[in-house]
Amino acid sequence: MQIRSSRFLMSNQNVSQCPNTSIPEYAFIGRSNVGKSSLINMLCQHNVAKVSGTPGKTQLINHFLINDEWHLVDLPGYGYAKVSKSVKEKFQSIITDYVLGREQLTSMFVLVDCRHEPQKIDMEFMSFLGENEIPFSIIFTKADKLRPSELEHNIEVYKNKMLEEWEEMPNYFVTSSDKGIGKNDVLDYIEQINNELAK
Ligand code: GDP
Repeated sequence: MQIRSSRFLMSNQNVSQCPNTSIPEYAFIGRSNVGKSSLINMLCQHNVAKVSGTPGKTQLINHFLINDEWHLVDLPGYGYAKVSKSVKEKFQSIITDYVLGREQLTSMFVLVDCRHEPQKIDMEFMSFLGENEIPFSIIFTKADKLRPSELEHNIEVYKNKMLEEWEEMPNYFVTSSDKGIGKNDVLDYIEQINNELAK
C-alpha cells in the first residue's frame, strides 16, 4: 500500500467520542517504550505520533486518517511501572472499553520488543483479545537491535511460549522503525483486509 495521505484526526479518552464513521480501523498497542510511536510514524511516512521521552504519558485514544480510507489508532501504552495504580486502572478501562466497544475495530497489532522475553502483560492482553474474538497480529519491534541469529532465536522462544496457550502462532511481523524494516508487510496486510472488506 502506498501512503498518499495521513493526518491526525482526534484524541479522546472515551470510545463513544471516537469518529462516527464506518471505515475500517486498525489499532496499535503495546507496553510503553516498545516503539509504538516510531512504528506509527514509519507506517504513516511522517511524524504524526509523538516519540515520547516520558513513557506512559499518552493516556488517549488517538485517531489518524490514512489515505481517506482507514483509521490507524494509537492506543495508550500499558504496563509502565512508574504510573500510579489509579492511572493504570484508567488506562485499563480506556483500552477495554475501546476494544470491546468499537465496532469499526477490524484488527489489532500488539507490539512486542524483540529483545525481551515474552512478558506476562502482553500474554494476558492477547488472551483477552482471543477470549473476545478480536483479530490481532503481533509486531516485533526494534529488529535492528539484534543480530539475525538472536532475532531468530527470540522469535522461536516467543512462538514456543505462545503455543503453550494457543493452537498456532498468531500472524506476526518483524519490524525496525530505524531501518524501515517490515513497513510494507504491515501496510500490505492492512490493504489486503481493506480490499476484502470492500468486496
Ligand atoms: P513508545 O513509547 O512505544 O511510543 O516508543 P517510542 O516510539 O517513543 O520509542 C521508544 C524508544 O525506542 C525511543 O528512544 C526510540 O528512538 C527507540 N526506538 C523505537 N523504535 C526503534 C527501532 O526500530 N530501532 C531502534 N534502534 N530504536 C527504536
